[in-house]
Amino acid sequence: MYPSLKDKVAVITGSTSGIGLATAHELAKHGCHIVVNGLVTDSEGKEVAEHIAQKHNVSTLFDGADLSEPTAIARMMENAIERFGKIDILVNNAGIQHTEKLESFPKQKWDAIIAINLSSAFHTMQAALPVMQKNHWGRIINIASVHGLVGSANKSAYVAAKHGIVGLTKVAAIESANSGITVNSVCPGWVETPLINQQIADIAEQKQLSVEQAKTELITAKQPLAQMAKPENIGAFVAFLCSDAASSITGSALPIDGAWTAQ
Ligand code: NAD
Repeated sequence: MYPSLKDKVAVITGSTSGIGLATAHELAKHGCHIVVNGLVTDSEGKEVAEHIAQKHNVSTLFDGADLSEPTAIARMMENAIERFGKIDILVNNAGIQHTEKLESFPKQKWDAIIAINLSSAFHTMQAALPVMQKNHWGRIINIASVHGLVGSANKSAYVAAKHGIVGLTKVAAIESANSGITVNSVCPGWVETPLINQQIADIAEQKQLSVEQAKTELITAKQPLAQMAKPENIGAFVAFLCSDAASSITGSALPIDGAWTAQ
């Protein structure tokens, strides 16, 4: 347990599923109050928030801001501050994917991926930093990807957004040095979440494989460690980055990638 995290307030974007949801549970386990966000119906979002609150005996708030809309992001950050009086931890996690060759990549998909996977983090950080500065403490963790460090075919928008968020993290960390605020990005390889289901289905169809075979094919094409990380693994690492033990780690892009980028 990290006792210093008790009663901290964490805004976690895209926390109704996958890595964000696991991170919400992980931080709540340490006593953080959570602002849950995701592109789901109000009743689904409230159910997720209520479950986290009851399970970990913390307070939660659901805000269904669509992160492709800066005004909705601003409202979400204001709601968080109004409800809890502060924001201590910001996890920019929400993300979408689309895979297609650059020359036929749909322009609206490019715009959506850049808006949700990159620009939303600029907007949330711009709102959170002054509050963190006032309290002389803050943790910003941006969930990037190995694709923030290396490229892959058919992922132009995703790779551009993830490289962008690694760069944005570095600038924010430099500007925040000596203010009690750390800013890092986490760069996972394959993680078992709904985000990658389409890629598995595409391989299964193209190569006439079972879902399990397609999953293995997907993982081992890039990643020496032939297993996916679990969302909880990423959540636990985020909690460590929020702990006092990690107070000197800032400006880093930290892979959890089964040796993908070691090659
Ligand atoms: P997921 O699909 O399980 O969850 C994505 C979350 O983002 C959901 O809560 C969804 O509602 C939310 N979201 C999507 N669009 C939104 C919008 N416009 N506004 C608000 N919320 C929105 O995916 P995941 O795998 O948990 O992905 C989380 C992050 O981890 C993403 O940034 C992704 O790029 C990154 N990542 C995932 C993997 C992987 O293998 N799964 C690997 C590396 C990095």
